[in-house]
Amino acid sequence: MKKPAITVVGSLNMDLVTLTDRFPEQGETVLGKEFFTVPGGKGANQAVAASRLGAEVKLVGRIGNDPFGEVLKETMEKNGVFLTDVKPVTDVASGVATIILSESDNRIIVTPGANNFVTKEYVESYKEVILSSDMVLLQMEIPLATIIYVVELCHANNVPVILNPAPAQKLDEGIWHKVTYLTPNETEKEVLFGNNLNQALREKLIITEGKRGATYFKSDKSYRIKGFPVQPVDTTGAGDTFNGALAVAFAEGQDLKKAVTFANAAAAISVLKRGAQGGMPNRPELDHFLN
Ligand code: ATP
Repeated sequence: MKKPAITVVGSLNMDLVTLTDRFPEQGETVLGKEFFTVPGGKGANQAVAASRLGAEVKLVGRIGNDPFGEVLKETMEKNGVFLTDVKPVTDVASGVATIILSESDNRIIVTPGANNFVTKEYVESYKEVILSSDMVLLQMEIPLATIIYVVELCHANNVPVILNPAPAQKLDEGIWHKVTYLTPNETEKEVLFGNNLNQALREKLIITEGKRGATYFKSDKSYRIKGFPVQPVDTTGAGDTFNGALAVAFAEGQDLKKAVTFANAAAAISVLKRGAQGGMPNRPELDHFLN
């Protein structure tokens, strides 16, 4: 069977993670417990999730001229993801997420760096790649003008698009309507739409609800596909695994109910290991879990 072709237009970040017993107060220095770096960024994570599940994945994204960029590029290669631009953006840092984790809480600063250079003009040069995809996958860690451009391009050419609206940022209502599926978590859904959802928009939503699973709407009914009961080790990246898997399922022609079940299963497996990409399943693992 031909592999489904998925194009992700999105971010690559290096996650810089510090574990601490408590956060420093203003002007204070505390000693951390542990530090590690892990490749991430919603675009890269979703691309890896889809690639491990058997899709041919291209990531339209950019890295900076620094060692992080090299590692991000290698991680894509190792996972079979074709990164469109292996030449770094010069004089610009790669995207980084500075993450401080304590037992009960986390604080995160994302600095987009090279991701800000995934401009409309840059993406335009990959128009043919986008238009030859079975499915296009977007998140909101790149400039909004680029997201709008890709949504409009795909809509005009009947290429299906999943937009994972994270981190949540408002767009003109007309843009939401041009997307095939929108995949907010519950908080993002509240921030973006509150109770202000007309029926046409509601039918585009697949709302992820953590361990409870995910809900979609048909006619005036809602359908929840229950999450799979597992003992999570680290839920970071569950949403990214869900989106990557959902794109694969739709690109393979699975119906909505099957696709959401497939995505729930992939995400449930992903929370069993540490790190966003660490636990993402490959296809045999997922097929075994579902059978
Ligand atoms: P994150 O930001 O951590 O990546 P998110 O907030 O975008 O996640 P969630 O709704 O928390 O997204 O989770 C996405 C999907 O992952 C859920 O719809 C579900 O399928 C799966 N999932 C998340 N947590 C669990 C869990 N504890 N057990 C089983 N499945 C889970």
